[in-house]
Amino acid sequence: MLKFDYIAAPDLLAGRVVLVSGASDGIGKAVAVAAAGVGATTVLLGRTVRKLEQVYDDITAAGGDAAIYPLDMLGAAADDYDNLSATLETEFGALHGLVNNAGLLGNLSPVEHYDLEIWAKVMQVNVTATFLLTRACLPLMKQSGGASIIFTSSGVGRRGRAYWGAYAVSKFATEGMMQVVADETAQSASVRANCINPGAVRTHMRAAAYPAENPDTLLRPDEVTPPYLYLLGADSADINGQSMDAQ
Ligand code: NDP
Repeated sequence: MLKFDYIAAPDLLAGRVVLVSGASDGIGKAVAVAAAGVGATTVLLGRTVRKLEQVYDDITAAGGDAAIYPLDMLGAAADDYDNLSATLETEFGALHGLVNNAGLLGNLSPVEHYDLEIWAKVMQVNVTATFLLTRACLPLMKQSGGASIIFTSSGVGRRGRAYWGAYAVSKFATEGMMQVVADETAQSASVRANCINPGAVRTHMRAAAYPAENPDTLLRPDEVTPPYLYLLGADSADINGQSMDAQ
């Protein structure tokens, strides 16, 4: 059952520009479609152009507004994120929402056997790339006003669990990054930052983590979008530094 039964107004994000990382699949795709459905111009950031094009087609076929920004967050450097922010400013003049959603699971393994290369990849995508994207977007978001950053957490980012290795550690770091950004922006009304833990959701990542689970017992990605819309829109204007559960 959804704990979060927010119903967004049809024009909640009209005139707003929202960037979603990892918008090609799973929760990020659902959040992008939902944000466009309530009026946002949605920037779809991801590494697989073919999948991003499908999301773009779905959004525009429904009358929404979207743009694709291909970027592999594993290999991207600081300059790539600065270029992204400059492009957003040139093309749209503003950025009102940033959904830091892209993530890698890595593998499940005891710490003593955890593979160093997988550790580095998970930390790069989930932590360093999220930091670089946030850092690059903050100046544009501050000047846009009323902007909202959502970080994506997890249950294992609040209480560590055996074998979840880099993924769990990266989600603790994500919670910390959100708290730092929220504290830095607390005195201004221009930007706020919060976390969402989506809970168990029917995606490729969840299936990889729990291969024996029946996916029909899980919520679909589109069913966990209400808290994302809530945090992106003006109804949550006074919410900053919180870590929420989507279910
Ligand atoms: P998916 O694996 O379905 O989607 C992950 C998204 O991240 C995809 O769009 C993927 O792109 C993108 N991505 C991965 N690596 C990169 C990269 N190097 N550069 C750019 N994009 C990349 O996962 P979910 O939708 O399940 O997860 C979304 C978020 O929710 C993650 O942060 C995850 O940790 C979190 N979460 C999910 C839960 C769940 O039950 N599903 C539970 C708790 C947290 P591509 O399509 O190209 O692979």
